[in-house]
Amino acid sequence: MTMILKDCKTFVHNWKQVIKTKIEELEQAPRLAIIQVGDIEASNRYVKNKIKDCEEVGIIAHHLHFTETDFSQQDLVAELILIRNSYDGIIIQLPLPADFDVKFLTDILDPIQDVDGFGPYSPHKPCTPGGIMKYLEYCGWDPIGKDVTIIGRSDIVGKPLAKLMTDANATVTLCHSKTRNIDKHVVGADLIVSAVGKRKFLNCYAIHVPVIDVGINFDENGKLCGDCYNTENRDVTPVPGGVGLMTRCMLLENVYNAAIMRKGQDEEDL
Ligand code: NAP
Repeated sequence: MTMILKDCKTFVHNWKQVIKTKIEELEQAPRLAIIQVGDIEASNRYVKNKIKDCEEVGIIAHHLHFTETDFSQQDLVAELILIRNSYDGIIIQLPLPADFDVKFLTDILDPIQDVDGFGPYSPHKPCTPGGIMKYLEYCGWDPIGKDVTIIGRSDIVGKPLAKLMTDANATVTLCHSKTRNIDKHVVGADLIVSAVGKRKFLNCYAIHVPVIDVGINFDENGKLCGDCYNTENRDVTPVPGGVGLMTRCMLLENVYNAAIMRKGQDEEDL
């Protein structure tokens, strides 16, 4: 089969270099605050990676880490109000404790500071869908007129990706847990995106089109894996080393854009 998808690591490396160069041209380094409440191991790992990425490209990142037991939503509101003028971008690391209202908290920020692109008024591309679109462009994959099947309809992946694809003139089928026959929507698609979060969900043996594997799961040995299996000699993004890297790089571009937009400049597509 013809392979369309290119090496994700090279793509991300090149993109990071462009962001780094653009940041070097700024008078002041962009500033990012990452707010975490609680001590979930996966969140600790994600934050660590984000800080490392920021250091690589010249973004000043501060990790504001609070203990769940003695930190309420009201405390977080006070903290956001206190710090919001000091940062170009602010990330509220998810998940927050169950009694925190993410939407209410995001609304405290200037939409420009919402560098995750989660809120309805954020000018930034949501990181995972935005990163995927950028990667497909790098691969020379043109969405115009293509049939795209996206499995998973979350507010952070499936739905915003469906919008970006539709805006780019693809025809999108958005599947979910109540979809009656997923196979029917997989067969005949020009591109498949799996954002389900279940190991061994999508058997790629008989799939001969590109597949973007968004899933993050662990196998029986605790090794990171995606939603897809039987991926040998198939055109599937790897996990790890695929969509996760794109997502992280999209965040860096969004922080750069937040910094220039706060100075009155227009957003750039790097
Ligand atoms: P989510 O909010 O849990 O959504 C999962 C979606 O999958 C839902 O729409 C659900 O349908 C659907 N689904 C579940 N079982 C299904 C089935 N048997 N058939 C068809 N659809 C099914 O998850 P998410 O936040 O979008 O994340 C999805 C996965 O991507 C997770 O593994 C997550 O860790 C990973 N992820 C990775 C990155 C990255 O940077 N690599 C970023 C974000 C997320 P319903 O809506 O009907 O429940």
